[in-house]
Amino acid sequence: MGSVTVRAPAKINLQLAVGGRRPDGYHELATVFHAVSLYDDVTATEAATLQVTVGGDREIPFDGVPRDDSNLAARAAIALAEHAGLEPEVHLHIHKGIPLAGGMAGGSADAAAALVACDALWGTGLSRAELHTLATTLGSDVPFALMGGTAVGLGRGELLTPALARGRFEWVLALSDEGLSTAEVYAECDRLRGRRVLPEPRVSDALMAAVRAGDAHALGPALRNDLQPAACSLRPGLRQILDIGDEYGALGSVVSGSGPTVALLARGTEHALDLAVALGASGACQSVKRASGPATAARAVEGSAARRV
Ligand code: ATP
Repeated sequence: MGSVTVRAPAKINLQLAVGGRRPDGYHELATVFHAVSLYDDVTATEAATLQVTVGGDREIPFDGVPRDDSNLAARAAIALAEHAGLEPEVHLHIHKGIPLAGGMAGGSADAAAALVACDALWGTGLSRAELHTLATTLGSDVPFALMGGTAVGLGRGELLTPALARGRFEWVLALSDEGLSTAEVYAECDRLRGRRVLPEPRVSDALMAAVRAGDAHALGPALRNDLQPAACSLRPGLRQILDIGDEYGALGSVVSGSGPTVALLARGTEHALDLAVALGASGACQSVKRASGPATAARAVEGSAARRV
């Protein structure tokens, strides 16, 4: 039986500037995506029909992941099969290492991984550009999971430009067991803003300079998320996590995407360990993970290439 496993990274947003709501209902964004070393693995195996099974790391509650065609990985397989004129005859097993509804685009990572895995399994041989186009139809964050690294996203986040980035950044991620709905966080953001006239969202020059230089001390104060007030309004406990970051010397702390994951930027690996211990002991979050970035894009795990019998 042929089988391919593809590993795709989680993302955090170093900056998420949110403009007004567009006529199509989406908000205009200017964001800086940053892939971090927290991964989901999707294994695609030949099967008679489309089937989804899910497992995961001990700390990641994954019961809420859909097992039907609404799963983003299943939707990716269906989209690729339609594009190639095939039937989506595949068993997708998803191993979650990315928290659910955590603002880290785990579902999008699974969609990107499923595209790459099924493309290899079925030998459809799509170009990067074709995969990107399919990814765009699946969700705003899916193209970035195919690209990895650090990238600027405009539009809904799908218009991507890779960013020049040097060095590695060490992150501590404060995870919550209960996710936040992206739609609810945007609605809360609109409510808090009221009728304010919004400037066009743009990425910060200071942040991009810090990324280019690999300068964590400059990056920390430049981290910014326009959805943070809304996420904190819906989940007031997040403020405590941000305060702990300040107290224990994080270079900066920011809610990731629509939350509730909070990313704290450490001074280095040892400081990351100290921060993780302080956060764990505080009881302010359910679990803590360390990760570094930028991480690489969705790609096949070595030795898992499709073998046909
Ligand atoms: P984003 O940062 O892109 O807004 P998120 O990280 O907050 O996303 P996800 O974990 O991607 O949230 O999933 C949000 C919802 O999407 C889940 O609650 C679940 O119902 C649904 N979903 C569909 N497919 C998947 C998948 N493969 N993994 C996780 N959730 C999925």
